[in-house]
Amino acid sequence: MLKDQDRIFTNLYGMHDRTLQGAKKRGHWDGTAKLIKKGRDWIIDEMKASGLRGRGGAGFPTGLKWSFMPKESDGRPSYLVVNADESEPGTCKDREIMRHDPHTLIEGCLIASFAMQAHACYIYIRGEYIREKEALQAAIDEAYAAGLVGKNACKSGWDFDIYLHHGAGAYICGEETALLESLEGKKGMPRMKPPFPAGAGLYGCPTTVNNVESIAVVPTILRRGGSWFSSMGRPNNAGTKLFAISGHVNTPCVVEEEMSISFEELIDKHCGGIRGGWGNLKAVIPGGSSVPCVRGEDMKDATMDFDYLRNELGSGLGTAAVIVMDDSVDIIKAIWRLSKFYKHESCGQCTPCREGTGWMMRVMDRLVRGDAEVEEIDMLFDVTKQVEGHTICALGDAAAWPIQGLIKNFRDEIEDRIKHKRGPIAAE
Ligand code: SF4
Repeated sequence: MLKDQDRIFTNLYGMHDRTLQGAKKRGHWDGTAKLIKKGRDWIIDEMKASGLRGRGGAGFPTGLKWSFMPKESDGRPSYLVVNADESEPGTCKDREIMRHDPHTLIEGCLIASFAMQAHACYIYIRGEYIREKEALQAAIDEAYAAGLVGKNACKSGWDFDIYLHHGAGAYICGEETALLESLEGKKGMPRMKPPFPAGAGLYGCPTTVNNVESIAVVPTILRRGGSWFSSMGRPNNAGTKLFAISGHVNTPCVVEEEMSISFEELIDKHCGGIRGGWGNLKAVIPGGSSVPCVRGEDMKDATMDFDYLRNELGSGLGTAAVIVMDDSVDIIKAIWRLSKFYKHESCGQCTPCREGTGWMMRVMDRLVRGDAEVEEIDMLFDVTKQVEGHTICALGDAAAWPIQGLIKNFRDEIEDRIKHKRGPIAAE
């Protein structure tokens, strides 16, 4: 379990002063110029040594991603873009950083931008985050007024501007290239890759897109050392992580914990256990709505990290948004609801996603009512495989995986409903 002295986010619950004064008291903005003066290579090496993997869902090593940015400019500026479009159902961790501990993010933006030789950073925040936007903008204004950002930021010799851009509420704008399109004032539609953003991103210039949490942990990692961060968790799954636990636990919460904590410990220590006891646990979606659901009995002893959830359970840590479902849940209907979400959010650009999400949702709709043939279960699985990996962006996968998880883990329930033509389980 994470020790208090190893906590990076010390105001996650907004119990303390979130202003610059409060943030400084808690150790933020301490020696920032000194860190910058150690140079780009030192920062990137330290980030690589920390083992930090991106916190936005994909888990790509952050230091390595930064190293893809050009060392020398070819005349084009470089940009850091922070993805604050947190829209995945179940995911609500970055908002706690932005509304209660915003200076962790702003300081991280400065250091990360310097490491990538970017003089400008854009934070793209989701449309529904009104209060979060206000809190973050207030913190940015404070940082400008105190000379921490702007010309000669923190007296480091680095000129740095930071802009907060408010999205309009489309889920697809959380996909990094759709986000860049939207920032440029166009429709939020994902781009074909390559070119990757590090080669041609925002306005055709070298760009790195990072998640809020990935950037907000940077200053503390550099102050305490990459080896401190990598000493927590398991190899290849290092550090601390914000978990957002929702659903049928007694006290849902967002909590910073050590990576690789067991699921049982996470739920018992921070969420007061499963509603109705562990015997009542039916299913868990461990990493935000796009990863496959897992049966409750398989989840109890799970290790909460990237590698375990992928290799042992065929699911994923994703954003570490843990959705817990007890026996009262109609799991077929729950997954149908996610299918409906992805169908609604498809940008329509590529055929397997545009047509496939609607097709899958309509079959799911019949499975909820038991109005289908048993053979259609395999047909549906087959269609998810035709969508997965055949689209421009990962929304196609995100729509396919929950259904695959349902069929793999709860096939008996689907068949039973078809055979007995049972309708959905009544809501409580
Ligand atoms: Fe758009 Fe879906 Fe294709 Fe992504 S996968 S580009 S959301 S149509």
